[in-house]
This record gives sequence, C-alpha cells and structure tokens, in this order.
Amino acid sequence: MEQTFRDNRIFVGGIWQAGRGAPITSHFAAEGCVNTVINGASAQDVDLAIARARDAQPSWGALKPHDRATVLYRISERIAANIERIAWVQSRDTSKTLTETRALAASAAATFRYFAAVAETSDDLLTVPRGDYITASVHEPLGLVAAITPWNSPIASDAQKIAPALAAGNAVLLKPASWSPLVCLELALIAEEAGLPKGLLSVLPGSGREVGNLLVEHRDIAKVSFTGGTATGRRLAHAAAEKLMPVSLELGGKSPTIVFEDCDIDLAIAGILFGIFSSSGQSCIAGSRLFVQRSIFDTFTERLVAATQALVVGHPFDAATQVSSLVHLDHRESVERYVAMARDEGGNILCGGAQPKDTAQKDGAYYLPTIIGGLDNSARTCREEIFGPVLVVMPFEDEADVIAQGNDNDYGLACGIWSTDHRRCQRVARAIRAGTVWINTYKQFSISTPFGGDGDSGMGREKGRAGLRAYQRQKSIYEDMSGQPHPWARWP
Ligand code: NAP
Repeated sequence: MEQTFRDNRIFVGGIWQAGRGAPITSHFAAEGCVNTVINGASAQDVDLAIARARDAQPSWGALKPHDRATVLYRISERIAANIERIAWVQSRDTSKTLTETRALAASAAATFRYFAAVAETSDDLLTVPRGDYITASVHEPLGLVAAITPWNSPIASDAQKIAPALAAGNAVLLKPASWSPLVCLELALIAEEAGLPKGLLSVLPGSGREVGNLLVEHRDIAKVSFTGGTATGRRLAHAAAEKLMPVSLELGGKSPTIVFEDCDIDLAIAGILFGIFSSSGQSCIAGSRLFVQRSIFDTFTERLVAATQALVVGHPFDAATQVSSLVHLDHRESVERYVAMARDEGGNILCGGAQPKDTAQKDGAYYLPTIIGGLDNSARTCREEIFGPVLVVMPFEDEADVIAQGNDNDYGLACGIWSTDHRRCQRVARAIRAGTVWINTYKQFSISTPFGGDGDSGMGREKGRAGLRAYQRQKSIYEDMSGQPHPWARWP
C-alpha cells in the first residue's frame, strides 16, 4: 500500500493539536528532498503537556502494576502489527535501510512487552527488622519524566525510555531530535489506540535549546532520561544538578575493537564490518577504533579493505543495500570535515574518503565506507566520535599494549574482542573500561541485559530488570509491632 505522511499535528498531553512553536522540517536525505513540515511545540504547549501529565499521573501511578502492564502489552502488540508503517516512516525520516528500521520497530515492541512483564513481576522488599517492627522497602513512581532522544535510532531509543517509565507509573514527555520528529508521533498514535490514558504521554518536537531546555528546567519534571551527544549530556547534567534532579545519560563513544593474531579472521572481518559500517556508522556503539596485532596487521588490513570496498552503498529501500545515506547533508559535511582532519594529521585513506560517484546517489547524503591508517591513538581522529562510516586502524604489540591503548580515551561505551583464546578474552574484557564488551561478536543486544557507558559515554544503565527501578524512588516503611510506648519517654 502506498504510504503517506500524516497531518502536521503533535501530541500534547494526549490530544492531537497544531504545535504553536517553530516549524520543523523532516528530510529524506537519501533523495535530498523534504518529507513534510510539522509544527513544533511552543513554551505554552510544554506547559499544557505538563499540566495534563500532572492531572493524569496520580491515578496511573496508583494502578496495580499488572493493570499498567495490560496497557503496555497492548502497545507492544500494536507496534508489532504496524512494523511496516513504522519502518517506512523511520526510513524516510533517517534514511536508514528498511531492513534496519524493521528490526528497530520489532525491538521497540519487545521493549514494551519486556517492561510490562518486569512491572508485574517486580517485588517490593520486606527487610530484616532489628526490633519489634515490620520493615519494608517499597518503590514509587517519580512523577513526570522528560525523555530526550537522538535521531539515530529513534523508535528503539524512545521505547527504551517510555516503556520502563510508564511501567513504573510515571507520565512521560518525549522530546525527539529535530532531524527525526516523525516516528515518535507514530508511537504516540499507537499508544493512544492501545488505550493509554490521556495525558500520560506527550510527544513534543522542537529544538533542544528551546523545548528540551524548558523540560529540563521545569520544576515539575522529576527526572530527565537523555540519549545523545556528550556535550549536550554535560549541559543537562549541570541543569539537573541545580534542581538536584536525577538524570540518566546515554552518550557517545569511540569504541575499540581488538583483533588478536589467533582470531578466526573471517568471523572477525564480518563482525568488524557490521560493527562500524552498519547504520552507516551512525551508532553510539560503532567499533570505530580498530587495533590489530602487529603480526597479522598488514594481511588483515588488506583483507578488511577489500571486504569494505565490496559493501553495497545504496538506497535505503533497496534490500541489497548495506550502507545507506547519512541522516542529513549537514551531518555528511561533519564527517567530511573529520576525514579532512585525518588527512591533515597524516592519516592514509585506505579506502573511501569520498562521496560515491554513482550519479543515482548525487542528491543524497551518501558517503563511502572509509578506513584510515597511519595514525596514532593520540590523534584527534582516533579520540573524537565521528558518528559516520569511518574506521581508524592501528597496530598493537601485545595484550598489555592494547589494553593501555584501548583505555586511553575519554569514552567508555563498548569494546569488541576477537580471539580464540577464551581466557585472554575474559582477561581483556575485565580490563577494558566499557559498559558493554562483545567477545567474538559485535553490536548484539538483549533487552534483558543492562546497557550504558562510563566516562564521557554517560552514567546510569537502561534495559534489564533494574531498568524499571531507574524510574522509581524507594521508600522505607517501619511499622511498630510491640504496642509499647517508646522506652526513651520513660512512660509511667
Ligand atoms: P545531540 O545533539 O546531543 O541531541 C540529542 C537530543 O538532545 C536531541 O533531541 C536534541 O534536540 C536535544 N538537545 C540538544 N541540545 C539540548 C539542550 N540544550 N537541552 C535539552 N535538549 C537538547 O545528539 P544527536 O546528534 O541527536 O545524536 C548523536 C549522539 O547521540 C552521538 O553522540 C551518539 O553517540 C549518541 N547516542 C548515544 C546512545 C547511547 O545509548 N549511548 C545511543 C544513540 C546515540 P535537537 O535535535 O533539536 O538539537
């Protein structure tokens, strides 16, 4: 069926209405055209969404967890039933391949199902009393949660915040990235159709500096859950500190992938290609720093370059495409600036380093998968997140050397290790500073396994059973069982 875009209304406290803020243009960067323009949220819209959330949250928070779970299960089912629609909208909004956006939509459905199950199976705690009383630790919703998300995998990163926050009894105000405002409005429609009470979810597109900032600074917002760049995350953490408000930060990365001489080379090359070039490298966990043991460095690099040159760069709706257009022409310019910098730093472009020559791609934001050699780990190209299809490859001598080089970076998000020596894999996995380590695989995810970063890659964890607790506060309750006046009072 021919797909079209919906009208340009936004979802303010459960009601579809024209935003009163600045217009936001959604681009289809693969074809260099405009998808649609929607009306962003204004300060008035933010206030209205917050007022509606304040009204709706107490009765939602008071529901039994299994009753909240029922609604979340329905949202999960409706996402699963609408995967094609969601995938199409997200591919048009981000230029990601349909193969990938279908997988992201399926992952969003799984996230709602998982947190529904977590909500109805999480226990409060009777703690061991040290006197004649009952002691309990119970969990309560925080109230109103602001979720601020990036453009690179919107439906999945939105679900990772909305599902646990709603499951925990909160209302959520979502501010999507300005480059990808559309798919979360689809999610809002699905939540509405699934019977989520009005007011519990708002989707407020608008610029980060305006709408994002208003949410972060609003006194009724009890927590901000943020995924995005490190500089923005740092700014939000400062603002959160002023309010003494909890904030969780999922930030950028410059993740090392380590190839030991005893690895299975075919497996390693396939995993490395997927780790850096899938999603056109626009992935926080992209394995963008590759360390190869010196004894196999030349032969391995040669094979890797040949395999990279064979990747299919193409239109996101073509099933054969492995590397699609970048999200926006401005973002391609940023990637190009980094590659120019790598040249200035003395790097050798081993492949890519340019826009494709195919005339069918001339209007899109395409960039060839690029491998750069000849740089030291201290070069800016090796230290900063490029967020595009660009890999730097460097040699190392031994385990100690690669652990030192791998950890010599401000980020600490992920790491890949390729070796057939399992003891060594485990040793290196423990020694590397990273929130996630993949051994003989890369970029695999499970909603039941916690995810997050250290250092400049953020703080806090999403996913896993504890992911629900990140949206709750703990309360301790003591109840006297003795029926006696307190002895301190020396009651007659
Ligand atoms: P970004 O520029 O930091 O933006 C992220 C979100 O923050 C957007 O919605 C943005 O709105 C908003 N924002 C910007 N300034 C703000 C402010 N002052 N107050 C409140 N909100 C503000 O990041 P991005 O370019 O969209 O995304 C790419 C980054 O996300 C990369 O660094 C990537 O590594 C990271 N990321 C991390 C993870 C993870 O789980 N660790 C996952 C995915 C992506 P506007 O769009 O309107 O500017």
